[in-house]
Amino acid sequence: MQKTVLTKLSKDELIDFIVSKGEKKFRAEQIFSWIWAKGASSFGDMTDVKKEFRTFLNENCLILDSKIKTRQISKDGTIKYLIEFADGNCAETVLMRFDNRSNLSMCVSSQVGCKMGCKFCATGKNGFKRNLLAYEIVSQILHAQIDTGLKITNVVFMGQGEPLDNLENVKEALKLINKNLQISIRRITLSTCGIVPKIIELSKNDLLPTLAISLHAPNHILRKEVMPIENRYNIELLHDALKQYNLATKDRVTIEYILIGGFNDSVECAKELINYLKDLKCNINLIPYNPVKGDKFKKPNKNDMLKFKYLLEQSGKKVTIRLERGSDIDAACGQLAGKNLSS
Ligand code: SAH
Ligand code: SF4
Repeated sequence: MQKTVLTKLSKDELIDFIVSKGEKKFRAEQIFSWIWAKGASSFGDMTDVKKEFRTFLNENCLILDSKIKTRQISKDGTIKYLIEFADGNCAETVLMRFDNRSNLSMCVSSQVGCKMGCKFCATGKNGFKRNLLAYEIVSQILHAQIDTGLKITNVVFMGQGEPLDNLENVKEALKLINKNLQISIRRITLSTCGIVPKIIELSKNDLLPTLAISLHAPNHILRKEVMPIENRYNIELLHDALKQYNLATKDRVTIEYILIGGFNDSVECAKELINYLKDLKCNINLIPYNPVKGDKFKKPNKNDMLKFKYLLEQSGKKVTIRLERGSDIDAACGQLAGKNLSS
């Protein structure tokens, strides 16, 4: 008989299930809390549940049906996990500890592979396999919490896949992260390559994460050279959608801009970018290009990067350069190939 996977069930479904097995409702609430709040990795941990019922759970249920297949730890403390799902597909997830230890960010994957084909990114190179279900997205956080014993405080949808190409599951995952894992929506960021109608749809959602946009170029011509999505939804349509998101959240969006040496890091590009962003409420996050095997792109040189940042700052926007995390274990932005290492 197939075991029931408890993290697949909503809170109400879990309560109904436990009650249908002859236990009281408060017992179900305890089990819910063991799984979602206390990070139980096995039914044996659930010390306030009586032994016979723990045995029943052990024989008939699973907390998670995925597992950590590999774990790599960077010298900067970043941990990259390869998670294997029940059907054998794998995706990577990255835990970033910053110096301020109270802040633990989890970078989750939303798909196995990606269809979007951005030229600078490793994720799409092995093609697209499938969408992840909501509980599979959230299981990445649970695995990291169980593995480290630490509570994740921030979640970024910046792992493998395009979250807005899997919006139904991602919306459900936002709910689980917010309600079950008790992470404030203000601490959740969703990054997209710019699927315009889905940005509009997300702007009408109950839970509104911070939106990060992979812009990476200041105009149509350059953007379409590296991002095929620009042929479907161009940078002007994207601009309108971002304004709408600004209106819906009354908050800033984050503009992500990979600096690629000699491609989009000139003074002219900076000026064009300032013009494009002038009526948007946004912060700008510059990402030095992380080399991907077989790519023709170059890292930016340090002076060009600082000049670019300085020019943008003069426009009055907040500009940060993204810290490179975990590049020694291929965990930096764009490097998540999600290869099943044993195959
Ligand atoms: N699909 C979403 C989220 C995942 S990518 C998106 O594209 O936004 C997370 C971030 O890493 C994106 O901003 C992406 O453009 C960036 N990225 C991809 N390849 C990169 C590379 N080689 N170097 C630096 N950043 C990269
Ligand atoms: Fe997909 Fe994002 Fe990589 Fe583009 S940058 S291929 S959208 S994961």
